[in-house]
Amino acid sequence: MPADRSFYITTPIFYPSDVPHIGHGYTEVAADVLSRWHRQAGDDTWSLTGTDEHGQKMLRTATANDMGPREWADKLVQESWIPLLETLDIANDDFIRTTQPRHEQGVAAFIQKLYDTGFIEAGDYEGFYCVGCEEYKQTSELVTGTGKYDGELVCAIHSIPVELLKERNYFFRMSRFTDRLLALYEERPDFVQPDSARNEVVQFVKQGLDDLSISRSTFDWGVPVPWDTKHVVYVWFDALLNYVTAVGFDGDEATLNRRWPATHLVGKDILRFHAVIWPAMLMAAGLEVPKQVFAHGWLLVGGEKMSKSKLTGIAPNQITDVFGSDAFRYYFLRAIPFGQDGSFSWEDLAARYQAELANGFGNLASRVIAMLTRYRGGVLPAPGEASERDLGIRETVRRAAVEADLAIERMAPHEAVAAIWTIVEELNGYITLEEPWALAKDPEQAGRLDSVLATAAEGLRALAVLLSPVLPKATAKLWTALGAEPALGLLLDQRLRAAGDWGKLPAGTTVQALEPLFPRIDPEVLNA
Ligand SMILES: [Zn+2]
Repeated sequence: MPADRSFYITTPIFYPSDVPHIGHGYTEVAADVLSRWHRQAGDDTWSLTGTDEHGQKMLRTATANDMGPREWADKLVQESWIPLLETLDIANDDFIRTTQPRHEQGVAAFIQKLYDTGFIEAGDYEGFYCVGCEEYKQTSELVTGTGKYDGELVCAIHSIPVELLKERNYFFRMSRFTDRLLALYEERPDFVQPDSARNEVVQFVKQGLDDLSISRSTFDWGVPVPWDTKHVVYVWFDALLNYVTAVGFDGDEATLNRRWPATHLVGKDILRFHAVIWPAMLMAAGLEVPKQVFAHGWLLVGGEKMSKSKLTGIAPNQITDVFGSDAFRYYFLRAIPFGQDGSFSWEDLAARYQAELANGFGNLASRVIAMLTRYRGGVLPAPGEASERDLGIRETVRRAAVEADLAIERMAPHEAVAAIWTIVEELNGYITLEEPWALAKDPEQAGRLDSVLATAAEGLRALAVLLSPVLPKATAKLWTALGAEPALGLLLDQRLRAAGDWGKLPAGTTVQALEPLFPRIDPEVLNA
C-alpha cells in the first residue's frame, strides 16, 4: 500500500437534542478505531464527527426550553456532545456543526449549483409528514396507532401521528438518477456494505425513485434557499452536505481533493439517505460519490433497539465510570461483529473485562514486567538462539499484524481485535510452558531465561503498537513501562504495518513498574 493514500471517515452528525447513549458511543468508537489505525499506519487520515442543528424538531425543542435554536444547540454541544467524545477518548480531527458559516455557505453554493443546472425545480407537494423523522412518509411506512393514538395513522418508527401537509416547494430531480445509481451499485459492490444493506438499497432503488422535496417554507430554522429566501433547505439535504463542507467545499479545492471521497459509517435507519439520496446529490453536482457507505447494526439491550426516540438509552459514562474508556472501546468492537446487530449486557461486559482484559492482557503485561524486574534487575536481556517455541511466537506476531491490517481494510475491526488477541493467548501459553520462575532457579538455564524474557517483552512491544488504536490508555502505560520510548520513540509514531517485524525492542532497555492495566472491579459496584 502506498504510504500517501488518503483515508477520510465520517460518523453521522447527531441531533443535539438527543441524549447521548451507547449507540452513539458505538459509532464514535468504531470510527475512531478505524481512523486511529489508518493514521498510525501512515495513511493521510481525517476523521469527522459533528452535530445536525437545523430543522423543525430542533426549533420545537429549543422553544419548549425557552431558548433560541442556536443558543439551545450551543448548550447541548458543550454539555453533551463534546463531553461524549472526551468520555470515549475519541481523537477526531474535526467537529462540524451545521450552523457554522463554512457549512451554511457550502449548502447555499451547492443548492444554487443544482438549481442553475436544472436539477432543482418548483412543484407542489402533499403527503404525510412525521415530525420525528422530519420527512414525508410513504403509506407503506405508516401503521395504525394503538393506545393514546388508537386508530390514527402513525409513523412506524416513532409511533406518533403523522400530519397531512401540502406545500409549494422545491424538488431535487432524484428520479433522473435511478439508472446511474443502479449502475454504481453494480460496478462497485463495495459501495454499500455489508451485503445485506446493499441488497436492501438495490431493491429499493429498483422500484424507481421519486423526486425529492428539498425545501420548507413553514418554518425558518435552516439555510435559506438562495433564490427564494422564504424557503429553507430541507434538513436532510442540508445535513448530508456536512461531509463535503467540512473538507473544503465550496472554496478550498485543494483540501477537498485531498480528503474526498469519504467512508461513511451509518446506522441502518439512515442507510437510504446515505446510499441513495447522497450519491444522487453528488452526481448532480459533478462531485465524486463516497468511497463507501457502511451500515453497522443495532445495539440491542434486553432485545430492544437503542434508539433516539425510545429512551432505552444507557449513557456511555455509566460504563466508563466503572470500567474505563478502553474497556468500552474494546468491548463493543470485540463482542459485536461489525455490520450485524449485537446485544449489550452488563454481565457480558463484566465477564469479558475480567477474562480478556484483566486476566488475559493486563495480567500478561504485569507478569512479564515483574519477571524482568525480579530476575534481570529491570534490564532487558539479549536473547540467545531462538527455540521452536520462540519462533512460534514470532510467527504468531507476524501473522496477527498482517491479518489485523487486512481485517481493518475490509471494515471488520472485530476480526482485527481477534487476530491481535492470538498474541495475548499464545504468549500466556508460552509463559506457562516455559516456566521462567523455574528457569530462574537454575543458573545453567540463565541463557534460556534471557530468551524467554526477551521474547515475551518483544511480544508486548508488538501488542502495545497493535492495540493502541483500540486501547489507547492501557497501551500508553505499557509503552512507558516497557521503557520503549527512548529507543523507539512515541507509541503513536510506531507504524502499524511494521508492528509484526521482530526484534525492535533493544537489549539493555530498562523497564519500569506497571500498575494493573485493568484493575479488579468491586463486585458491589457491579451489583449496584
Ligand atoms: Zn417518524
